[in-house]
Amino acid sequence: ASERVFNFAPGPATLPESVLLRAQSELYNYRGSGMSIMEMSHRGKEFDGVIKKAESDLRALLGISDDYAVLFLQGGATTQFAAVPLNLCAGPDDAADFIVTGSWGDKAYKEAAKYCRPNLLWTGKPAKYTAIPPFDARSLPQNPDARFLHICANETIHGVEFKDYPVPENRDGILVADMSSNFCSKPVDVSKFALIYAGAQKNVGPSGVTVVIVRRDLIGKAQPITPVMLDYKTHADSASLYNTPPCFAIYICGLVFEDLLEQGGLAEIEKKNAHKAGILYDAIDGSGGYYACPVEPSVRSLMNVPFTLQKSELEKKFIDEAAKEGMVQLKGHRSVGGVRASIYNAMPLAGVEKLVAFMKDFQARHP
Ligand code: PMP
Repeated sequence: ASERVFNFAPGPATLPESVLLRAQSELYNYRGSGMSIMEMSHRGKEFDGVIKKAESDLRALLGISDDYAVLFLQGGATTQFAAVPLNLCAGPDDAADFIVTGSWGDKAYKEAAKYCRPNLLWTGKPAKYTAIPPFDARSLPQNPDARFLHICANETIHGVEFKDYPVPENRDGILVADMSSNFCSKPVDVSKFALIYAGAQKNVGPSGVTVVIVRRDLIGKAQPITPVMLDYKTHADSASLYNTPPCFAIYICGLVFEDLLEQGGLAEIEKKNAHKAGILYDAIDGSGGYYACPVEPSVRSLMNVPFTLQKSELEKKFIDEAAKEGMVQLKGHRSVGGVRASIYNAMPLAGVEKLVAFMKDFQARHP
């Protein structure tokens, strides 16, 4: 629909138009049930079909084996910052390793300190979060006694993305990743991870649901103080229906998963994302310094592209003029300033092309 803008927001973020239209058509009377998804019992047969299909489609997309539980939870990724150490550490004296490549990883590290002894292996903070460290034992000596190693696979604010992953050298070989902002943006070998979590509201749905993919052998060992709602066993034992789940959000995620499968799966999606990000980074790097991205080229995110203008006094004008042309939410996070274009799966190529054309035009008009 032509009245829609190109929404470069970091999350909640743009959703596929086909998904919105499908949800609209099913909203009032879901498949002949006489009511909407929002109004029906989470224990009825319609919703049972919705959540089961969402799970099986996600399993197909990511190739998730039956060794893992897939949970649809509430509380956002932020709640997982606590749930992870509560479930994976036997008590507050257990150690855990953190590689911090941006402010989300830093938040996870700080929250973990309430429930375990987090050890900061490396932080990109002194270099303003623009890099990822080498993983070899000399550069990044891990703690063999740690219960897990935590990374944030894509830092939404700083635009730093892991392209490969450290091999955990802790006692049980446990790697945990916050994939909130690059979830389902590319194929991922889930077997390398013991636990993956992601808030849905960037790549796969609306806010309100958080997906947790956790190896089953890790479930059922939570610390005694763990609230029932944060214990993975609670949700694994009841197929995410222990209490009332975020039904509508799960339904929309299901539509997105279906759409991603129809597009050919995550290998196809990654190609599209790499192409979109490529033309945007090329425009930045080819601007003769007019635009600049501070992130090391080898770890630049395909999802969140932060950049600055050499004449920083023009940044507000850039963002305002772009908005007038139907490209909105381009302001960088308040902690870093500048511009940030979030170009998740559902951002059409046409949106990125329009942004790139605008950047060239803006530069020509404000040399
Ligand atoms: N981790 C990352 C990488 C994020 O981008 C965000 C949200 N921007 C969060 C965690 C926090 O997610 P939530 O708001 O769902 O708690």
